[in-house]
Amino acid sequence: MSVLVRGGSGRLCAAAREVIPCLWSGKCFSSGREPAENQVTPMLRHLVYKIKATGPITVAEYMKEVLTNPAKGYYVHRDMLGEKGDFITSPEISQIFGELLGIWFISEWMATGKNAAFQLVELGPGKGTLAGDILRVFSQLGSVLKTCDISIHMVEVSEKLSEIQALTLTEEKIPLERNAGSSVYMKGVTKSGIPISWYRDLHDVPKGYSFYLAHEFFDVLPVHKFQKTPQGWREVFIDIDPQVSDKLRFVLAPCVTPAEVFIQRDEIRDHVEVCPEAGVIIQELSQRIALTGGAALIADYGHDGTKTDTFRGFCGHKLHDVLTAPGTADLTADVDFSYLRRMAEGQVASLGPIKQQTFLKNMGIDVRLKVLLDKSDEPARQQLLQGYDMLMNPKKMGERFNFFALLPHQRLHGRSHPMNTCQSKPSVSPVAGFGELAWR
Ligand code: SAH
Repeated sequence: MSVLVRGGSGRLCAAAREVIPCLWSGKCFSSGREPAENQVTPMLRHLVYKIKATGPITVAEYMKEVLTNPAKGYYVHRDMLGEKGDFITSPEISQIFGELLGIWFISEWMATGKNAAFQLVELGPGKGTLAGDILRVFSQLGSVLKTCDISIHMVEVSEKLSEIQALTLTEEKIPLERNAGSSVYMKGVTKSGIPISWYRDLHDVPKGYSFYLAHEFFDVLPVHKFQKTPQGWREVFIDIDPQVSDKLRFVLAPCVTPAEVFIQRDEIRDHVEVCPEAGVIIQELSQRIALTGGAALIADYGHDGTKTDTFRGFCGHKLHDVLTAPGTADLTADVDFSYLRRMAEGQVASLGPIKQQTFLKNMGIDVRLKVLLDKSDEPARQQLLQGYDMLMNPKKMGERFNFFALLPHQRLHGRSHPMNTCQSKPSVSPVAGFGELAWR
């Protein structure tokens, strides 16, 4: 497959890192690669006006504007996923990925006592392919779920993608809710008869026993970047290049900025990226899970508090200079799972991050592949094998992508039963994916 996954090569970042230390004293970074042409996009024009009016902006503000500005944001009006787009994701590569995640939710629902109802809440659902594969599993296991009242809740900022999601999942074009006071902006019923609603923000999703899913969502949330200097930590900003018109460049703040509070006191790296928006979302998920039960499954590329400069752009399956032609390319930064874990601490238990290869193996990907291969003819067999290789090969997505889960404390440590005084340690079933799937 000649397509690039976003968890791929960090060549651009490596180049950028080389120039940071030697130029920082001039308060200026190169963005790593000189653009072949400095295309003046509507977003670049908007940012240049903004910076001229109010001064340099943080990398976080830049990411937020470029990706989700309601008028010109990269995510808002286009379909960027798949071979014809800018990058490809696991659910678009193989149906098995979503099927195994569907089984994960059912397995957790069963392990926690088969609640009478649950909400499946997906953050950043892309084209709706992942939810479609999960819902197919729910239908196939209808006999297990028959007494359960299920509803689907999509958190999506992109009007274009939510339109595609609605077509995929309901086979209908759903009109937008025009009432500005309504927190739901689209509402429908899936092909299998399950109610589905769309929201712009997680806060708007009704509270209740829920399973939350975020696949390649946290990596597009805005990061602040900091560089250690002899004067202490300094935040990286984006400014207009004084030498070239309509060109942006990185600069360092001349003094301490408020966002510095996000840096750990004992930080040993010399460059860090922090995503406060991810922290807010993790805290919200943790509070909800602690209060009403359920779980969150988060899958993304990232690290456990070890990487430094991972901010990069993707356009047409190629790495793209992050400051060139803003609005035409995806921007992303690796997820810092150690930060997510700290944000959840106290409220809920967390598991992972573990490698995608291990998670999918534990979920029974080999058995599922064999079943599908036995039922398929060429060229579908070749496609299944290629998809398996992309998901599992350590050099492709197998080791770059990680799974991380939030669960109520009692799910991992058991709830001591007041009547059962002889039992010193309550027995709890292992969480599928992080251990072998016990339920078949
Ligand atoms: N989960 C999908 C798509 C990943 S791309 C997949 O794996 O294929 C990122 C998704 O997050 C897109 O659907 C994008 O529109 C959405 N998104 C980006 N920023 C968002 C935000 N702040 N709030 C909600 N959705 C957002």
